[in-house]
Amino acid sequence: MLAEIITIGDELLIGQVVDTNSAFIAKQLNKIGVSVYQITSIQDDKQHILQALEDAENRVDIIICTGGLGPTKDDITKKTIAEYFNDTLEKNEAVLENIESIWKQHVRTQMLQVNRDQALIPSKSKPLMNRLGTAPGMWIEKENKVFISLPGVPYEMKALIDYQVIPKLKDKYNCPFILHKTMLVYGLGESALAERIESWEDALPKHIKLAYLPNLGKMRLRLSTKGYDEAQLKIDVQEQIDKVIPLIKDEYAGLEDEDGSVEVVIAKQLTKLGNTLAIAESCTGGAVAERFTSHSGASAFFKGGIVTYATESKINILKVSKTIIETHSVVSAQVAEAMAKNVQELHLSDYAIATTGNAGPTKGDSEAEVGTVFIAIATKKEVYSQEFNFGNSRLKVINKAVNKALEMLLK
Ligand code: ATP
Ligand code: MG
Repeated sequence: MLAEIITIGDELLIGQVVDTNSAFIAKQLNKIGVSVYQITSIQDDKQHILQALEDAENRVDIIICTGGLGPTKDDITKKTIAEYFNDTLEKNEAVLENIESIWKQHVRTQMLQVNRDQALIPSKSKPLMNRLGTAPGMWIEKENKVFISLPGVPYEMKALIDYQVIPKLKDKYNCPFILHKTMLVYGLGESALAERIESWEDALPKHIKLAYLPNLGKMRLRLSTKGYDEAQLKIDVQEQIDKVIPLIKDEYAGLEDEDGSVEVVIAKQLTKLGNTLAIAESCTGGAVAERFTSHSGASAFFKGGIVTYATESKINILKVSKTIIETHSVVSAQVAEAMAKNVQELHLSDYAIATTGNAGPTKGDSEAEVGTVFIAIATKKEVYSQEFNFGNSRLKVINKAVNKALEMLLK
């Protein structure tokens, strides 16, 4: 089964909004065995929309559009879809009721005619009820093809995909099951990893495909397979995971799909043990803390983070001794360790992480070479640190430092 995704909106074409909708939809379609043949982003323009629909219809079975369903004049997707199907817009009572109920709950001002008009949908379409917004999704079948139109707002689109579109597609087409399992591996480069697991990789069964996805010091190793016997596929893939783990034991961090990313693995361990964490950051500017707080449940173990960017803040707030800084430079093992130890004591936490470095592009408060980062880990009893050089691209240095800090904490 083949699909195309068409994202509609002027904002996508001027680079103001990054199209994240298609990535999400493609991922969800993949899980039910639907391959995405093409992704297209187009303007809120009638001719472009009509052309894109026609092209897609000639190529694939399932066409999913997002965007342009709003009540304003610039949103023309609905009208254009009606035109494409030689159809007219008709009021749908169930949709109107949904809009009224959302209006009552969240907006409370007088409902406008333009909002009432959002209950108008092409007569040939079935509405996909949007509980999170006033623009309904639409499902139109033509012969054995399906056209789906969804609002552009990501969280509304996601809910409609997960709770309505995917179940309906599964019903309509007898989709094979697709399974991806992604292992997170830290601290091994692509070639070193490939060499380490070569014999295992060569012996992989034909129906299981392997992909290496390197990213700034962390590596994702994805196993993919497809078929109709879901239970058997799961067993087959698990068997391969069990075989490869002993080969990458020290570097293996967990399964991304189940355990989430490495910070989720750490979070689970800390929560299970009842341990707490504090963070002191300089060059990473709060990015390590953000990795933990972006997941729910962080309050169970995360005490707090302090960003001391300026040297005097390291002295005044984190109480790093001026002598240490003067003797060793602000980018040094000694300062990283003092930051970790002091933030641990300030928060009375079981663990602490600290980062100090020079992300570039020019030298800052220290003489340290661009890319130099010291990361320290403190517990109640000890503190240790490591020095790294992450190169000379600012964002890369920061992201690598964040990944490395997480990796050090994991071990
Ligand atoms: P409504 O106007 O009722 O909110 P809509 O269908 O008209 O829904 P749009 O106006 O097209 O939605 O988009 C609303 C917002 O959703 C945009 O401002 C943008 O931030 C976001 N958005 C739209 N399309 C995408 C996309 N492909 N990827 C990520 N975000 C998107
Ligand atoms: Mg729009």
